[in-house]
Amino acid sequence: MQVFRSKDSLQQFLTAQRDTGKTIGFVPTMGALHNGHLSLIQEAQKKSNITVCSIYVNPTQFNDPADLEKYPRTEEKDLQMLESVSCDVCYFPTTEELYPNGTSDLLNIDLGGLDSQMEGEHRPGHFKGVVTVVKNLFDVVKPDSAFFGEKDFQQLAIIRRMVEVLKLPLEIIGCSIIREKNGLAMSSRNERLSDTERSEASLIYKTLEEVTLQRSSDFERKDLAKQRLSQNSNIVLDYFEIADSKTLQPADENTIEKRAFIAAFVGEVRLIDNIALD
Ligand code: AMP
Repeated sequence: MQVFRSKDSLQQFLTAQRDTGKTIGFVPTMGALHNGHLSLIQEAQKKSNITVCSIYVNPTQFNDPADLEKYPRTEEKDLQMLESVSCDVCYFPTTEELYPNGTSDLLNIDLGGLDSQMEGEHRPGHFKGVVTVVKNLFDVVKPDSAFFGEKDFQQLAIIRRMVEVLKLPLEIIGCSIIREKNGLAMSSRNERLSDTERSEASLIYKTLEEVTLQRSSDFERKDLAKQRLSQNSNIVLDYFEIADSKTLQPADENTIEKRAFIAAFVGEVRLIDNIALD
């Protein structure tokens, strides 16, 4: 695997690949890699000749400085994991190269209300940072396709929207959620959970599964989810929402495709998850 820490050397390599007709698949990450990330790499490998993974903890998407500081950074292990699946390229961008005009130079795109609920509402400024870093990364890597997890379903919808609005010449591919044996969605933040918390956190997915089985009104489903989660005093619900999978607005009687979304604190760690309904 080739490791690049500068934009110029990465671009030189990728231009040479493109010139020989190779396609480029891109997986942006914030590191502390797990099997969820590796599944994206493997999807990218199926659809592209060269797979690039970037590792960059993006400061502009953290609305809580303590969360940014505590975000796990495991560079050595990440490189080993990428080697283990024969990823072609790992890119560690620098803030200077990714934000040439500084980190307050953020993109202003009309996200059509996709950012008004859930993570957008509960983490002010988060999606502005996400959209900017992803656009800046796309400008550097110029991929043919980019792969994002449904674990961050709202983020995936927003990136699709950004690509549409800016008419970027690449395909966005959504990939399914990879889970631990107990159902907990894999996440870099899980590294911060104690063993007990990791097992307690499985209640998040169990609740989502239970909601899918309940054939009742959304109001009752929400109530059930809140009740279930309140059974563990170490879990504090941030939100539970049933939303339209396309618009991400709260579902109503006209919604065809619904999805349930949860954000909850397990101890000090904030986790998110979602599941398709009906
Ligand atoms: P992150 O490093 O958390 O920014 O995630 C990088 C990419 O991996 C994003 O597209 C995430 O949606 C995706 N991802 C994170 N966790 C999972 C998971 N458990 N299953 C599938 N994709 C995931």
